[in-house]
Amino acid sequence: MDRQQEFVLRTIEDRDVRFVRLWFTDVTGTLKSVALAPAEVENAFQEGLGFDGSSIDGYTRIFESDMLLAPDASTFQILPWRGQDEPTSRMFCDVQTPDGASSAADPRNVLRRALDKAGDMGFTCYTHPEIEFYLLKSHHLDTSGLPVPVDQAGYFDHVPGGVAQDFRRHVVSMLEAIGISVEFSHHENGPGQNEIDLRAADALTTADNIMTFRTVVKEVAQLQGSYATFMPKPFGDHPGSGMHTHFSLFEGDSNAFYEPSAEYKLSTTGRRFIAGLLHHSVELSAITHQFVNSYKRLWGGGEAPAYVSWGHNNRSALVRVPLYKPDKAGSARVEYRGIDSAANPYLAYAALISAGLKGIEEEYELPEAAVEDISALTSHERRVLGHDPLPGTLHDALRVMEDSEFVAEVLGEQVFENFLRNKRQEWDDYRVNVSPYELQRYLGIL
Ligand code: GLN
Ligand code: MG
Ligand code: MG
Ligand code: MG
Repeated sequence: MDRQQEFVLRTIEDRDVRFVRLWFTDVTGTLKSVALAPAEVENAFQEGLGFDGSSIDGYTRIFESDMLLAPDASTFQILPWRGQDEPTSRMFCDVQTPDGASSAADPRNVLRRALDKAGDMGFTCYTHPEIEFYLLKSHHLDTSGLPVPVDQAGYFDHVPGGVAQDFRRHVVSMLEAIGISVEFSHHENGPGQNEIDLRAADALTTADNIMTFRTVVKEVAQLQGSYATFMPKPFGDHPGSGMHTHFSLFEGDSNAFYEPSAEYKLSTTGRRFIAGLLHHSVELSAITHQFVNSYKRLWGGGEAPAYVSWGHNNRSALVRVPLYKPDKAGSARVEYRGIDSAANPYLAYAALISAGLKGIEEEYELPEAAVEDISALTSHERRVLGHDPLPGTLHDALRVMEDSEFVAEVLGEQVFENFLRNKRQEWDDYRVNVSPYELQRYLGIL
């Protein structure tokens, strides 16, 4: 047993922890949890905890279903919303096969592999997500069957006595209590829409933090009698919820994207990383936009980036180089805006980081920065400028991904196949569904 594991066992004793939850995710990023009695933890460290992988979406086939959870002791935290009476804690787990090897089906392992590759190239990868979500009145639909947001406020609005303000304060202190630092939080453009930005951390920690964040936000909403959703586009008439993520690569202490004498102070490494993101953005769209609904955010306006492009201070661009603190070497980064709040963070970050690294490795050329509002151009102008559209639907995205050697390599054959199978099923269900929109439009009786 290592020192971190010993520390966990001691803390469980000292704090009289009653339950230890083991967390992992399925292929779409749904959090899975199994509660362990404290007495079982030592054994779980030594031998892993067995579970039936064939019951988890996208894991295994039925004839090879035995799998193990190996708790990652460095992620041990007491869950603040469970109260003091029966302290409950959690650890994220790596999934293993019975012989102790990393499971090829585990999304966390897919990200680890991508980060190992970054490590081989001499880089540590930091990420900083801006997470948007809607806060709704629970069990409430209006007369036309739409969900009801908790307020009618907009971007950066301060709503005296508002639910959202209280809510954000509560979420932020719970996150801090569980070791997740928040950089800022504010009301977003849509009614009931909020954004909370987590402080930069290494990419694996960030992905774990996003999973924890979603749980905390949902728990706090429930405590306050509201309902939080990370659905990419809950309202046709209001902006969708994105999860813009800022990426930076460090070589030791120095930011590899920073070059004071270069245009936008962006180094050649930074330019190639962006070129990689752009080059692979279409084929990895099914991962950054994994639901039928994701494409409604992408194509429904509200500052969602629908075309392959990069820009300096251009909010219609897919990749943006932020201007805020151009002289601070440490803060040089690139922001990928084409990822939504419902993505599996492990798979999405693995795909995006691998795309950027490929750009560095293969020395991709970065096209001209876009200075205009790309959505306002004609399609001819966009074609001339090389701003290809991202896929229009989940179906289109899957068609491109199916042929992508790049995505197959990043995910590994097993996750690649399982993901495609899961998503094709989603599309098949969707395409035969007759929606209220169609009844209204073609039958005219609603
Ligand atoms: N909600 C927008 C999106 O879906 C982003 C708006 C913003 O943060 N400026 O990407
Ligand atoms: Mg923001
Ligand atoms: Mg925002
Ligand atoms: Mg942003």
